[in-house]
Amino acid sequence: MPRCPNCPYKLVLLSSRPKYKCALCSKLYPRKEIEVKEFQEFNKRRRIEDAKIFDKEYKEHLARIKEIKKGLRLLFNGFSKTPKEYRKEYYEKNKEKILKLSREWKLKNSEYNLMKKREYYQRNKNTIRAKAKIRILDNPEIERQRQNRYRKENRATMRIYGMIQHYRSKQKELALLYLNNELAL
Ligand SMILES: [Zn+2]
Repeated sequence: MPRCPNCPYKLVLLSSRPKYKCALCSKLYPRKEIEVKEFQEFNKRRRIEDAKIFDKEYKEHLARIKEIKKGLRLLFNGFSKTPKEYRKEYYEKNKEKILKLSREWKLKNSEYNLMKKREYYQRNKNTIRAKAKIRILDNPEIERQRQNRYRKENRATMRIYGMIQHYRSKQKELALLYLNNELAL
């Protein structure tokens, strides 16, 4: 139903003349003028709708292309690597996350972890010891620092050990003195 360009109420086609009449402002318009206008507006609306549909289809098309490209990338880059390389790359990319999860898992499973550590140590005892020796020989300064740190941390314990050592030697001295005295008598 065409609308009046003036007010814009509904227009009614007159039966007596080829004209449209506005039911509100009573203006008259030639039938042809109104119908051409209607047709133009219809076309305009259709163009807008077409454009919307086109836009939607174009976006879907782009999304499809993106998916295909992703698939191709996986096919040519992803699978051209060996699984080991792929795993390594994944590890490098997610290092922090993996380490965090691993630490959390270890904390949660500390008993199991301790058992595993012991098993590993038993199996590789000789290698571990040899490696430690080499490390110490290679870095005497680091080893010295480590020992200093250890001594500092265990100073209290060391003091008690020292005292025990001291009393033991005193005891020994006394015992010897006593024995000498006994023999002298
Ligand atoms: Zn009107």
